[in-house]
Amino acid sequence: MTGVSVVGGGLIGLATALRLADRGHAVTLLDPAPASGATHHAGGMLAPAAEVVYRQESLFPLMQRSAELYPGLIQAVEKHTDLPTGYRTEGTLVVAADRADSTHLAELSDYQSAHGMDVERLPLRQARKLEPSLSPQLAGAVLIPGDHQVNPRMFAAALLDALANLGVSIVREKVTELPGDEQVVLANGLGAAALHEGLQLRPVYGDILRLGVPDHLSPLITRVVRGFVADRPVYLIPRSDGTLAIGATSREDDRPVPRTSAIHDLLGDAIRLVPGVEECDFLEATTGARPGTPDDLPYLGRVSGNLIISTGYFRHGILLTALAADATLALVEGRDPGIDLAACDPHRHQEF
Ligand SMILES: Cc1cc2nc3c(=O)[nH]c(=O)nc-3n(C[C@H](O)[C@H](O)[C@H](O)COP(=O)(O)OP(=O)(O)OC[C@H]3O[C@@H](n4cnc5c(N)ncnc54)[C@H](O)[C@@H]3O)c2cc1C
Repeated sequence: MTGVSVVGGGLIGLATALRLADRGHAVTLLDPAPASGATHHAGGMLAPAAEVVYRQESLFPLMQRSAELYPGLIQAVEKHTDLPTGYRTEGTLVVAADRADSTHLAELSDYQSAHGMDVERLPLRQARKLEPSLSPQLAGAVLIPGDHQVNPRMFAAALLDALANLGVSIVREKVTELPGDEQVVLANGLGAAALHEGLQLRPVYGDILRLGVPDHLSPLITRVVRGFVADRPVYLIPRSDGTLAIGATSREDDRPVPRTSAIHDLLGDAIRLVPGVEECDFLEATTGARPGTPDDLPYLGRVSGNLIISTGYFRHGILLTALAADATLALVEGRDPGIDLAACDPHRHQEF
């Protein structure tokens, strides 16, 4: 069995370490503050259909494959811990606030169907039967049964517990130089650019809110509700701990905390779709930095005899965790990862 150092303990590094340790490899995980990066802020939607972006076809098979691998990852974690992961499979409802949003939603669902994704237009009456808290004033609804969710904070805590139970050594230190004498997996999100030349990573900030649903309204919604309000996307994620996440903005300025206007828009749009949000307790507003690459595809692959890169997961890192962990295990063991990773070549943006 191989000695492997995993640098970075966000969901990508944690799940990779889990897959490796579960197979008997001697794993060391290095991170000064595990699960404190983008993972701490993420919504946790596992949404290979609802998250599609036009003209990013190279991403779709990766997202789809990762969604298929998720149940296996959850099972592997549950073998080694009793802590909950917040994995839920009720599906996702996408709604439109007005006529223009409805046109947008119809075009998007046509595009999703054309790419083989399972999306189903629903009469509004039926959507409100599924989620009675939805506003009666909506203009369209689509059900996506295959888009699920995990609670990233819970999942990270469960993974850390599973790693401890597997005997993985967790070193709470920042890595400033790559360990030279064994296999290394560089999975430290935005921090990877400082440790390996040629990775072009940039922070894409996202603001997200957490609310508490009061007992008399609970559960306010029972599945992820996404929507478009005046062309702005918004999502509401019900958690098994009785909270509700509402997100998220996407911006490339240099402000690491949420602007008042972002909180205002997110709340206003969420209330437009689910009026009961007005009655919830406001718990927190935070900002996370997604590790973006120039083409929005991750950097995943072996770059030398002992170095594998696994970063740049941008808006899909929670979903892509299952694929990243499985593919990296295969790369460490010298096996075929079972999916074409050519588009993820970590050196594709290197300037010679
Ligand atoms: C608001 C928001 C909502 C999101 N929603 C979703 C969603 O619904 N679904 C989805 O799929 N994705 C979502 N994402 C994206 C997702 O959060 C990221 O793609 C994912 O968390 C990336 O995981 P990671 O492990 O690569 O990086 P991170 O979670 O950022 O972890 C990197 C880790 O590396 C450590 N580190 C950094 N430098 C070093 C070093 N030198 N040495 C050791 N350790 C180091 C850090 O301490 C950190 O723990 C969202 C992101 C944001 C911000």
